[in-house]
Amino acid sequence: MRYSAASVKELFRCFAAWCGFFRCPMCMKNGGNGRNEFCPECREKLVIFPVEGRCPGCGGPNDTVLAVCSSCLEFPLRPYVDAVALMEYSGAGRTLIRSMKFRKQPELARPLALLAVEKLNESGMVFDAVVPVPLHWRRRLVRSYNQSELVAGLIAAETGKPLIWGLKKIRETPHQAQLKRGERLKNLKGTFAVDDPSFAGKQILLVDDVLTTGATAAAATQVLMANGAKAVRLLCCARTPVKARSAPPAAGRGKKTT
Ligand SMILES: [Zn+2]
Ligand SMILES: [Zn+2]
Repeated sequence: MRYSAASVKELFRCFAAWCGFFRCPMCMKNGGNGRNEFCPECREKLVIFPVEGRCPGCGGPNDTVLAVCSSCLEFPLRPYVDAVALMEYSGAGRTLIRSMKFRKQPELARPLALLAVEKLNESGMVFDAVVPVPLHWRRRLVRSYNQSELVAGLIAAETGKPLIWGLKKIRETPHQAQLKRGERLKNLKGTFAVDDPSFAGKQILLVDDVLTTGATAAAATQVLMANGAKAVRLLCCARTPVKARSAPPAAGRGKKTT
């Protein structure tokens, strides 16, 4: 009997997981499976959205019999054709995303990307290339990485699709969470420009970390479409809860969202 390198590696991974060599990347307590996926206990804590019955505006569950969910009815601007959101931006999900963005834990991008691939496969979403929502170079320099780029790069690697650094953010904008919706849209005008036009004629998977009103994704999509993208579909790691999407921003809440 012949063993391929992949099957030997898989056998070793199973053995190492059985011996407890791996840890879940989120809790670092429970044993991991060596693929950097969330352990069942952590998955339980996260409000992971089902793909079926999702709202194409925000990727979360559609709570209406209409085309979009109740909170997306307030946000008619939706130039992307579909969306998948992985989880709700609350509780453990919020802590997870904030740890990746602000607490220097970029390694959390991997389990998120693996969950994204699982959900994308389930959704049957079609795309030819992956494009991350960029950060302004100054913010990227301070953080030293862009969390959306990390997730997008890992999705591209897992799916075998090209990663295109198609967009750049040419203007620093005030933090979106401090603005009302109308102000968000105005705030984003002229924010994105094209860095690499090789996405023209392609169906794009746009990757963002957190979706609140969808204004950022909409602004990025408009620029991609104006520069020849065939279609844009959105993958966001987390979507804010419905009440928080509609409510006016509370003073001092969510100071950092980008
Ligand atoms: Zn865990
Ligand atoms: Zn929605």
